[in-house]
Parts: sequence; C-alpha cells; structure tokens
Amino acid sequence: MRSLLRRCTACGRYTLSKEKCPQCGGPVKVPHPPKFSPEDKYQKYRIMQKLLQGKIQVKEEVREKILQELTTIPGI
Ligand SMILES: [Zn+2]
Repeated sequence: MRSLLRRCTACGRYTLSKEKCPQCGGPVKVPHPPKFSPEDKYQKYRIMQKLLQGKIQVKEEVREKILQELTTIPGI
C-alpha cells in the first residue's frame, strides 16, 4: 500500500495533494519511498541466497522452515 502523503520539495510541508504544494505551489514527492517493493520477485531469491550462503545466522530447523515458506509463497 502506497502512502498518500507527499512532501513539498520547496518548503518541506507535508500534504495530501499529488499535484503541488497547497502552501507555496512547489513540487511534491513521496517523502519515504519503500526500500523494497512488495512486487519485487527477486527479493525471495536474495533471501534464499543469503540463507544458503550462511549470511543469515539461524538454527538449522528455522532455516528449513524459512526456505519451505519461501518456496510456497503464492504468486511468486
Ligand atoms: Zn511548499
């Protein structure tokens, strides 16, 4: 779900307007873009790769459980 909040790049005010700042008319943009897109299909493989390379330290049974869940996520 995307944030409806925008922030004016000119005066720094927050607004719900998608077009321009109601205060000064300056351009607005999303203040905090998500680091990871929920539509990122490769995130799954990055997590799996880190797990398999041992970059994520977890117990063996936890690792198996995560890998199992990752391979059963619908729509990915
Ligand atoms: Zn403004």
